Amino acid sequence: MYDHLIVGSGLFGAVFAHEMKEQGKFCLVLERRSHAGGNVYCEEKEGINIHRYGAHIFHTSYKDVWDYVNKFVEFNNYVNSPVANFHEELYNLPFNMNTFTKLWPELHTPVEVAARIEIERKAAGIGEPRNLEEQAISLIGRTVYEKLIKGYTEKQWGRPCKELPAFIIKRLPVRYTFDNNYFNDRYQGIPVGGYNKLIDALLEGIEVRLDTDYLKDKSNFDRLAKKIVYTGPIDEYFGYKLGRLEYRGLRFETERLEQENFQGVAVMNFTAREVPYTRIIEHKHFEFGRQPVTYITREYPANWQPGEEAYYPVNNDRNQELYKQYADLAAGERNVIFGGRLAEYKYYDMDDVIKSALERAERELGSQVI
Ligand code: FAD
Ligand code: UDP
Repeated sequence: MYDHLIVGSGLFGAVFAHEMKEQGKFCLVLERRSHAGGNVYCEEKEGINIHRYGAHIFHTSYKDVWDYVNKFVEFNNYVNSPVANFHEELYNLPFNMNTFTKLWPELHTPVEVAARIEIERKAAGIGEPRNLEEQAISLIGRTVYEKLIKGYTEKQWGRPCKELPAFIIKRLPVRYTFDNNYFNDRYQGIPVGGYNKLIDALLEGIEVRLDTDYLKDKSNFDRLAKKIVYTGPIDEYFGYKLGRLEYRGLRFETERLEQENFQGVAVMNFTAREVPYTRIIEHKHFEFGRQPVTYITREYPANWQPGEEAYYPVNNDRNQELYKQYADLAAGERNVIFGGRLAEYKYYDMDDVIKSALERAERELGSQVI
């Protein structure tokens, strides 16, 4: 009899399993994919780690989480500095003095730039922003909105910016300094040798069964352990009996190129509406690779269909309300812990998932001690 049967080998499942093993608990991890690691999994080709489920950059301001991951793997000093490509014009991201002075070559100082943005903001006559378009224009002016935000965002979410919530854009920093670091967090990097090293280290000494879907044989699996930790989609757990939660899908097209360096940067965003993909990832640049070949991935946003890979939760009122109803059902399930981005239907970054798994594990161990 296992103490815990853990459904899913992504970061939540792997961290939780590791913490239990450290305290002498006996765990079994089930994973329905043919590899462990969930969405941080990378496929190695010719010495290049390909981020198979989308580019992943580790960044955090939690010192405890940073110290934790560094126990398992060393991190390189990669700093995410994407470049935006608007009809072949290139701009640094996030929005900073490098971006502004390229857009407006006649401006040179933060004061001049702020004055220009203020003129655009006033001309738009927006009061309290009611949607993403108004939020973006009042934050950064119409020029930046039209060239770098509108097309990208409408592709990404499949809806006009006027119909999207303002908060989506609040993730992006706006700086009046010459600083191309995409994140404001204190710590950042990519695991040396790739994310699989982190997952392998977390799962060392723990039994993992791949290609095994818990829900296909739930009652038999339930008999194997005292407690279940479920990190899959919450609506699937309950057989979609209240309806389906919606996601935004993605499609990846990866290509091998016989050249050393294709775009000179790991992430290039294509902000024009006419280009069907949102980004091209050149994977080798995450790890400063010097291989004679390169692999690139075009990322296409897609309408999600049930049964496809669930990437981004669509946090509108309908889905939030439905999620709450599922969460109520989950609270009534005895001996089942629901955690991670799919079971909590939450846009979690990696550090938040690790923090939440650590807290959940601590609570679990604490309650068992008492
Ligand atoms: P997952 O990684 O999804 O793991 C869940 C696992 O459970 C999966 O392997 C799944 O196969 C398995 N599973 C589900 N149901 C069953 C079942 N019935 N039986 C068996 N197994 C099952 N975060 C960052 O911090 N930085 C980034 O740059 C970043 N980029 C991202 C880019 C994209 C495109 C996406 C989608 C996310 C990104 N994230 C990023 C978020 C990051 O991927 C997540 O925070 C993290 O991977 C979530 O881990 P998890 O364990 O909750 O879920
Ligand atoms: N965004 C944009 N232009 C860009 C990059 C991002 O307009 O070049 C907007 C877009 O709406 C996106 C949001 O900012 O959904 C958040 O960007 P982030 O890079 O955080 O996206 P994610 O990590 O969710 O893919």
